Amino acid sequence: MANQPASRTALVLFSGGQDSATCLAWALQHFAHVETLGFDYGQRHAIELDCRGALLAGLKSLRPDWAEKLGESHTLAIPTLAEISDTALTRNVAIEMGEGGLPNTFVPGRNLVFLTFAAALAYRRGMTHIVGGMCETDYSGYPDCRDDTIKAMQSALSLGMDRQFELHTPLMLLDKAATWSLAHELGREGLVDLIRQHSHTCYLGERGAQHDWGYGCGECPACRLRAKGWREYMARAV
Ligand code: ZN
Repeated sequence: MANQPASRTALVLFSGGQDSATCLAWALQHFAHVETLGFDYGQRHAIELDCRGALLAGLKSLRPDWAEKLGESHTLAIPTLAEISDTALTRNVAIEMGEGGLPNTFVPGRNLVFLTFAAALAYRRGMTHIVGGMCETDYSGYPDCRDDTIKAMQSALSLGMDRQFELHTPLMLLDKAATWSLAHELGREGLVDLIRQHSHTCYLGERGAQHDWGYGCGECPACRLRAKGWREYMARAV
């Protein structure tokens, strides 16, 4: 990335979680203009989307050069996704392992749909770079987070829209501790603190209790993964 021209625009898939907030900072470091896109797909807890405002404001006050680069923040509503899927993220059921070894937090095709809408929006706005926080290291087995899937989507979208899209996934090979390290590399303690306090990860949508790794129930798989990553990051940092 370092030797690529900075006069480019990127669209970042930005949900308000730790991964997408880190990706947004990464994009602000590597692109001249950055817009964000979040999806309201009928998830049980839209609190993650609400976190975007505080994160955007925080990024702007952290770095004036990033503030200049930050452009429009888009939200697309795609309630159809919840209509056709029966998962713990879109219905009020307990999180558990389902058939085929996938947790029932898996929303089939979610990232495929997200990337398709992102490419359609990018096309309309004259952008070819799309950034997403997909990661195959700590990915709970979600097949639409795999690097192979993303590469196939890049080909399909480029062919299908006749435009050469580049899908960037800076977290693809990082674990959660390394994602915190990347945040530190990009914006030092200020960025780590911003993401820790204002990004949301908890599957149950809880923001009541504050832990050293941020807010959340502390028990769901997403909270446990985030807490584990934070502990490892802190252990590596000393
Ligand atoms: Zn939780």
